[in-house]
Amino acid sequence: MLIRKILFTSCMILSLIVMGCETKPNEETVNTQIQPKSQSYFIYDTLVTVRVYDNQVTSQHFAELDERMKEIEGKLSRTLNTSELYKVNENAGISPVVVSDETYKVVEKAMKYAEASNGKFNPAIGPLVSLWNIGHENAHVPTENELAKTMPLINYRDVELNDEQKSIYLKKAGMAIDLGGIGKGYAADQIAEYLVANELNSAIIDLGGNIFALGKKPDGSQWTIGIQDPEVSRGNQLGKLKVENKTIVTSGVYERYFVEEGKHYHHIFDPSTGFPADNGLVSVSIITDLSADADALSTTGFVLGLKEGLAFMEKQPNVEAIFITKDKKVYITPGLEGKWELTNDLYEMADI
Ligand code: AMP
Ligand code: MG
Repeated sequence: MLIRKILFTSCMILSLIVMGCETKPNEETVNTQIQPKSQSYFIYDTLVTVRVYDNQVTSQHFAELDERMKEIEGKLSRTLNTSELYKVNENAGISPVVVSDETYKVVEKAMKYAEASNGKFNPAIGPLVSLWNIGHENAHVPTENELAKTMPLINYRDVELNDEQKSIYLKKAGMAIDLGGIGKGYAADQIAEYLVANELNSAIIDLGGNIFALGKKPDGSQWTIGIQDPEVSRGNQLGKLKVENKTIVTSGVYERYFVEEGKHYHHIFDPSTGFPADNGLVSVSIITDLSADADALSTTGFVLGLKEGLAFMEKQPNVEAIFITKDKKVYITPGLEGKWELTNDLYEMADI
């Protein structure tokens, strides 16, 4: 008998935990005079928590951030039927759609990573995401026939951007852009930008485990970000990282998945097979300046796999990465030496 079980890790089971930003003083916060003020929101069905370490922050700031997030979702959501992206997808095979500069820029960035990774990162993945429907009740392993019909609709080269018109055209009916691999990162960057523009320079922005550690702690020291063991629920730390003004974004197999006939199927697809990338990785974390880049790169690295992914990250300027494999080995880019500390005995550091 077919056993289908849908499992989610909720927003509460995150791949990253933030240390040093709890209201209760602990080892990391003991020198921090300012207690954070925080507010939570939802964007793209993801819990966002913004913790600002600055006494100048007001409820007006938090209200404006709420507006800003609604605006972003109103442009980039794939499911909201009033969004710009929805309109682009609705007009697949029909006509180009003129979009705002903001939507255009995000799609353009996604396409840049598609080109750079030879389509491993693929914003035209929408029809495949819908076919598997992971995270919903009817998630299932598609039939060969279903896959054969879907695969021709996910070619990112069939996405046409017109720079002058700021329009996006999906050449074939049935195509759909899905920004699930980059959109959360973009939102985090926009929150960071808003805070800095309002002279609020010390904050932790947490979007479902993707962290933007803005500035430094109020006492001038670096943030300590804990990296979660990707195989267990929240609370079990794998290691920690010292950063200032950096974002850390993770793509992992335990974020969103279902189990069919004992096999685990997660939400990050290899566009060349139509199946979840199955290459021995359990998670990829990217550390860099902009969250949209980190988001796209964590998905890219996950699909590329350990060897190719690490080599790819080493070529990106100002990008560091942590790759974790099923056999509990941890690989880091050289730039993290001295900043990264493995704290979990079940794992070991390894080299290619
Ligand atoms: P992330 O958790 O950032 O790695 O993004 C995963 C999400 O990105 C999925 O839920 C899909 O919406 C989308 N996605 C899945 N596979 C890919 C891919 N190969 N390239 C780009 N986006 C993808
Ligand atoms: Mg991503």
